[in-house]
Amino acid sequence: MIKLYGVIGNPIAQSMSPVMQNQEFQQFGLDAHYQPFHILEKELETAVKGMKVIGVEGFNVTSPHKTAIMPFLDKIDPLAEAIGAVNTVVRKNDEFHGYNTDGDGFIRALQADWKEDFMNERALIIGAGGAAKAIFYTLLSKGMAHIDICNRTAFKAKKLIEECPYEGKSKAISIAEAEDTLEHYNLIIQTTSIGMYPDIYKSPMSVKNLLPEAFVSDIIYNPFETALIKDAKQKGVKTQNGLGMFVYQGALAFEKWTGIAPDITRMTNIVVEQLGGNHANR
Ligand code: NAP
Repeated sequence: MIKLYGVIGNPIAQSMSPVMQNQEFQQFGLDAHYQPFHILEKELETAVKGMKVIGVEGFNVTSPHKTAIMPFLDKIDPLAEAIGAVNTVVRKNDEFHGYNTDGDGFIRALQADWKEDFMNERALIIGAGGAAKAIFYTLLSKGMAHIDICNRTAFKAKKLIEECPYEGKSKAISIAEAEDTLEHYNLIIQTTSIGMYPDIYKSPMSVKNLLPEAFVSDIIYNPFETALIKDAKQKGVKTQNGLGMFVYQGALAFEKWTGIAPDITRMTNIVVEQLGGNHANR
């Protein structure tokens, strides 16, 4: 019998996950289908119960349900619990178990585009929203210590650090301070929505003080090249966009569901094709 997977969100029509995951099911000859489900906030609990009853094997969770879904799952992985958000659900013995693969997806992409071991580098995260939290907590949980955070709303950066259950040596700084001291960091992780389509000319900060040997990761992938990435490239600095993080978080979900490591290049290519682009990080 065909195995059913999917993604829930509101909105959901824009999601690249169905085309990416269905391609891999097909390529590996699996009798499975991945379906987007448009679920309203008020219907979330009913939707999760329904998915369990009809035998859904696993699904992704996207905005705005990543936190709200947690009480409706049977078990939550400790990292997802700490982050306070679930993006992947796996059926195990008729229970729904929740995970968060966003941070690990980010790490895999950084390893692929930059270097395998960056745990001793000094990082700056720009932004303190949901994506920043997943990346920050996952990096600290893996032993990275030197990660500062700057955000427009200063108290949110401070809160992220204070509430983090993993040990680190982080401080919250203002965007202006980050700009002035950018040479202290060799990894810049841009997690705000500044520069995302349609506001493609906006950048969260000046790269005047960016080190030439630094690496800039902007987790936006629409456009592929944000204003920040363009500015960094002009200084000869190596960069990556958010496509790798998106593909790897999906690949990690696929692996949890099937036990198979999917083809990253093939997944990247189909997303690039869907987005109408002609280049990616690799
Ligand atoms: P979120 O929780 O809403 O956080 C948004 C962040 O952006 C906050 O730090 C917010 O600052 C900042 N921000 C928004 N508008 C701003 C402005 N005009 N000026 C200054 N700061 C501003 O969103 P999220 O879920 O973390 O997502 C953030 C971005 O990451 C989006 O572009 C999303 O597409 C991308 N993303 C990519 C992936 C991937 O797989 N590549 C995964 C998840 C998210 P304040 O706290 O001051 O409001």
